[in-house]
Amino acid sequence: MSQPIYGRVALIGLGLIASSMAHAMRQSGLAGSIAGHARSAETRAAAREIGFCDEVFATAAEAVEGADLVVLAVPVGAMGAVAAEIGAHLKPGATVTDVGSVKQAVVEAVAPHIPEGVHFIPGHPLAGTEHSGPYSGFATLFENRWCLLIPGAAAPEAVARLRTLWEAMGSFVEEMDAAHHDLVLAVTSHTPHLIAYTMVGVADHLRRVTESEVIKYSAAGFRDFTRIAASDPTMWRDVFLTNKDATLDILGRFTEELFVLQRAIRMGDGQLLHDYFTRTRAIRRSIIEAGQDTAAPDFGRGKPPQG
Ligand code: NAP
Repeated sequence: MSQPIYGRVALIGLGLIASSMAHAMRQSGLAGSIAGHARSAETRAAAREIGFCDEVFATAAEAVEGADLVVLAVPVGAMGAVAAEIGAHLKPGATVTDVGSVKQAVVEAVAPHIPEGVHFIPGHPLAGTEHSGPYSGFATLFENRWCLLIPGAAAPEAVARLRTLWEAMGSFVEEMDAAHHDLVLAVTSHTPHLIAYTMVGVADHLRRVTESEVIKYSAAGFRDFTRIAASDPTMWRDVFLTNKDATLDILGRFTEELFVLQRAIRMGDGQLLHDYFTRTRAIRRSIIEAGQDTAAPDFGRGKPPQG
């Protein structure tokens, strides 16, 4: 058991990420007490039944009373409304963080509601599964995964404390600015998810291939796409609506590359295809050499590169 890093922690939203944080904090004694809030009575009842919070509240405002750390763990599109509700109830000196998959939109939506004297440090654990809800959480979700923090102008001591919490839950922590985060994640997570959704959609539309054949002959490639495409629809809708510019930029580049390969196939340009695949194979090898080759539903998981 470690010393608690925060006296009281409030989790707003009690799905996969929040429940995993609660399990991890309880397992290692990282929080003196954990308060939780979810909007639906069903999720609140589930949280009580599983027992990962000490107290579960019907409103976010009640849950954050007296909390030293408040974690916003709702879909990105809901962050602003939650922040507006809790703003006046935050304890002076508290830290507010979030776990949203997009950062610029969260900063814009949440920062205006954070009173002076409260530290706001957005975050994003690059850890997840295709499952959601309070029953899907587990204590080891963040182990050996990156957690990106966006310190902005927050006090260094508050950032250091939040970093300590994530490290105690097993994560590697890196700091960056919100715009850079959104571009990096558009490449490593958001656009790949969109491609997976599209590929599964293509199979669904191809009526000549029956559903049973899709299931029966699913090779590793398509199977992986279906797992990714099973990710939470609300979360991913919000990711694309809020990380619009970076996703469209990467999608444009992706489409250009796809046309290059499409043309090479049409023209029978085997040399181009072979050179291209040789290059991508080298990228894969460099990822393995950097120790980042673990199965990665969130497309960003893995160990930090050496050196
Ligand atoms: P989740 O399992 O679906 O849980 C979402 C929680 O937010 C639920 O408690 C839900 O309440 C609540 N919620 C949903 N819509 C809401 C709204 N409009 N207003 C207030 N509360 C609302 O989601 P999650 O996977 O934990 O994701 C939470 C955050 O983490 C998201 O911002 C996501 O981008 C980020 N994230 C997810 C992953 C991943 O792989 N899943 C990875 C990294 C970061 P009810 O249950 O009562 O409906």
